Parts: sequence; C-alpha cells; structure tokens
Amino acid sequence: MYILIVILAGTISLFLCLYAHLKLKEAPGALPYFFVTLLSTIFTFSYAFELASTSLEQVQFWLRMEYLALPFIPVFVLIMCVEYVGQKLKQWIYYVLFMIPIMTIFMLNTNNLHHLYYVSMQLNNEGPSPILELEYGPWFYIHSIFVFLCLMIAIIVLLRQLKKSQFRFRMQVLLMVTGLMIPILASCLYLNDLTPYGIDLGPVSMSITFIFHGVALLSFQMFHVSPIVRDKVFESMKEGVIVLNQNGAIVDYNKAILKVIPNLNYRAIGKMLMDILGNESALAEIMEVGKECDYKICIADKITYFHISFSPIQNRRKIHLGKIITFADVTERVNLQEKLKQLASMDGLTQVLNRTFFMKKAEMIIDNLEMTGGNVSVIMFDIDHFKKVNDTFGHEAGDIVLTQVTSIAKESLRATDLIGRYGGEEFILCMPHTSLLEAHEVADLIREKVFANRTSINGKEICITSSFGISNAFIETGDNRVLLQMLIRQADQALYKAKDNGRNCVHLYRQKEFSLPFEQ
Ligand code: GH3
Ligand code: MG
Ligand code: MG
Repeated sequence: MYILIVILAGTISLFLCLYAHLKLKEAPGALPYFFVTLLSTIFTFSYAFELASTSLEQVQFWLRMEYLALPFIPVFVLIMCVEYVGQKLKQWIYYVLFMIPIMTIFMLNTNNLHHLYYVSMQLNNEGPSPILELEYGPWFYIHSIFVFLCLMIAIIVLLRQLKKSQFRFRMQVLLMVTGLMIPILASCLYLNDLTPYGIDLGPVSMSITFIFHGVALLSFQMFHVSPIVRDKVFESMKEGVIVLNQNGAIVDYNKAILKVIPNLNYRAIGKMLMDILGNESALAEIMEVGKECDYKICIADKITYFHISFSPIQNRRKIHLGKIITFADVTERVNLQEKLKQLASMDGLTQVLNRTFFMKKAEMIIDNLEMTGGNVSVIMFDIDHFKKVNDTFGHEAGDIVLTQVTSIAKESLRATDLIGRYGGEEFILCMPHTSLLEAHEVADLIREKVFANRTSINGKEICITSSFGISNAFIETGDNRVLLQMLIRQADQALYKAKDNGRNCVHLYRQKEFSLPFEQ
C-alpha cells in the first residue's frame, strides 16, 4: 500500500515536472522548480524500488540512485524561493550550495571505506516490506543540518517578502511557505522515529510541497514577473492602473490610482469595482460604458484631467480573463489644447473672437433660439474714415484706436452677447433675446462713447466716429429658416446705409427699404 502511495507521489512529481516544462516557462523560479520536481521524481521512484527490494544489495543500489537526486533538492528549493521573490544569490553561494550535495554523494558511495555516512546498515523484515535500518555517521548529520538550513533560509526569504508584498501576493508567498513546512514536519517525524515502521515520509510529503509551489508559481502567469519586480514596475508607474477580472471584480491596483479613487484599499481586492465607485458617479458611468475617454476631476482644488483607456486581458487561447484600466494624467495636454483653442479663436490685437469662431458661436446662438424661440439682433459697425487715422497718425496709432473701440463695445454688452472682429476695422455683434429697439439703444450707446473717446498720440488727440447697421429676426420655436448669413447680410446693408447717411449714425434694416429703394 505504501509503495503504491510512493509511486503515486512520484507520478505527481513527474506530472508537475512536465507541467513546469510546458507551462511555467516564464514564471519566476520556474527553472529551479522544474529541476526540483525532476529530482523529486527520480528520488521517489527510486525510493519505491528501495521499498520493493528484498536484498541488502538491491536496497543499497536504489539508495545510491536516490542519493543522486535527493541532496540537490533542498538546494534547488532554496534557489527557487530566492528567484520567486526576485532576488539573486552571489556566485560563491551557488558553489557552496552545490559542493555539499556533491560531497554527500561522494560520502555515501565511499561509505564502506570510512563509514562516515552510515555507521551500520541492516534490513528489517518485520514490516510489510523490508525496511532499511540505519545507524548514522557524522556526515549524515552535517547533510541533515544543511538540508534543514536550506529550507529554513528559504522560509525566511519568503517571510521577509511577505511583509513587503501586496495582499494579492501574500497568499502566494504563504502557499510557498506552507509547502516548505510539510517536508520539515515529515522529517521531524521520521528522525524522531514517529512514523509507522520507520517509513521515510519525505518522498510523499515532497510531492505535496511541489503541488503547493506549482499553484503559487502558476498564479504569477498573469504578469510573468517576480513579485518584487512587479511591485517596482507597477508602483512606480505614473499612470494609475486597476486590474479587473472577467466579472468586474478588482484583482489589483497601484498607488497612482488612489489619486482618482481614493477609497481603494486592500479590502477592495475581490470586490466589484462598481460597488466601490457607487452608481451615481460619472466615473462609474465611464467604467460601465468601457470606452476610452477623458475624465475631469478636482483634486486639491485643482482641475485634473485623466485619459482613461481599457485593455482586455486574454490568455493564449484568446479567452477573456479581465481588463486593465489605465488612468493617464493629461492635464498639461488638455490645458495646452485649451490655450491653443483660445489662441485660434481670438483676434490677437483686439482680444475679441475672430471671424471664424464668431460665426461658429453665433450659429450656436441661433440654433438655441430655434429650440426656445426669441428675438435675435445682429449689429455690424465700422470705424469711419479709419484709413485717415492710419495715414495721419501711423499704423500703430490705428491699432491703439482699434483696441479702444473694442473695449468700449465690450463694456456695453451683456454676458450673453457675442462680439467678433469681422474684418479690418469692422466688428460684429450677435445679441440673443434682443429686439431691434434694444439693439439700437446698445449701438447708439457705443457710437456715443466712441465719439466721446479721445486717444492722444504724441500730444495730438484723435477723434473718431463709427457707423452701425442692425438687423433683427424673431425666431419661432422650431423655426429653422432664420439664417445667420442672412442677418449678417442685412446688417451689412444697413451699415452701408448708415455710411451713406453721413456716418456716425445707426441704421436699422427694414425689409422694404431694399426691395423698394424708391420709397426712401
Ligand atoms: P469708411 O468710413 O468708408 O469705412 O472708410 P475707411 O477708411 O474706414 O475704410 P477703408 O476700408 O477704406 O479703410 C480701412 C482701413 O483700415 C484700411 C486698413 O489699412 C485699415 N486697417 C485694417 N486693419 C487694420 C489693423 O489691424 N490695424 C490698423 N492700424 N489698420 C487697419
Ligand atoms: Mg471704416
Ligand atoms: Mg471697413
């Protein structure tokens, strides 16, 4: 029965060895794990043969076979644990680690000459199968201490990592530690003669150990990096990252994400992201939709923009495993874009909208009025004889006059009114919810202020006047026949009339005056 159990343990080791060779290639500690399971397979099967042996010669032969593998197992276990936590041993430590098992093999094979490993060796036939009874020599104890030290150091290395690890990795590190405790316990029982018939439980316990380690190693498949490397990369990222499984539960996150979702903590691991965010927030909505976008939040009284992107996680067979959500701080980029947009929309000299942007915004005003219904007035005005100002006082003086005229106009407008530079010294206003008479009042006010304004250049005063043309339309709700272009054309025609009427005046556009010019 026990031989069968040992053969089963050997088969498990062999399976884990093949699995490590085929599947665990990139996991940290995978190579030493492969060796450890290979050596364990050799040892366990040899042990099964030892148990089945009937003569001392046979037993000694299989014992030698066991000892080709056994002494190296703790060495590879230690190397595996060190690699698992992302560390590297110094070269000389490797030499020492391999020297002792080699000497153990030498001691065992030359035991008849010095009896330093086994003082005596007998076959006990009382049990279900013959069991070797051994009296140990000094080197056996040296080797046992070495094995114990290797396993203890491996446990210490893992426990030190346990403190530093993120919650998600703690479970894996604990799995590794638990795996190591099993053979230590089995050895304690064996060495204290507490096992039935003095059977060595080592081989069976080893297979269980390697199952634990296999699971721990497999859990790293997602990142293909050791915990320490993963921590370094993940935590030093400027981008906030959150990893969800296929059900939307949080698998992992990094520190940077706390800027966006401050209430994340290790207890959130395994919980649904939606539960953490709450259903109300705008962020929850973005997560629900799962589409790349910009997201604006206020952090410490500063508006911050994040670009959110979603990357699916798939295994090699293209099976969906979850997603990685990345939050990149794009505040600088967005602010720059806003600045560029403003620069592109403004007239540099007068700091009012340029013609293109005025047209866009005025179209929006008209569109809104189509929905709500209401009056809209358009005023066009032009500085009279501006060419003379340039000719007499110079182009720079002309520029000053232009900025003064625009500030006068801006002062006289409401927040909802729009002003733009239509061309050279010609300006345009779009005023929603404003009747023709109200617009006339505004235009006349600007005209008077421009007239009263004095610009002094080199001790000389510049007096200017301006002319105004106004058009107006009442937009019924749902009526989309009123076109901005038409209102501008009409205001322009009225301005032309104002110029015609002697300048420094306001002219209102009326339907009939252009269709029936002889009535004037
Ligand atoms: P009217 O009363 O008929 O409008 O006569 P006007 O001289 O104002 O009109 P005209 O169109 O003949 O001349 C406009 C002048 O405005 C010509 C141009 O040099 C000047 N101008 C256009 N843009 C600027 C500018 O940005 N700065 C300056 N200083 N002058 C400008
Ligand atoms: Mg002019
Ligand atoms: Mg002009």
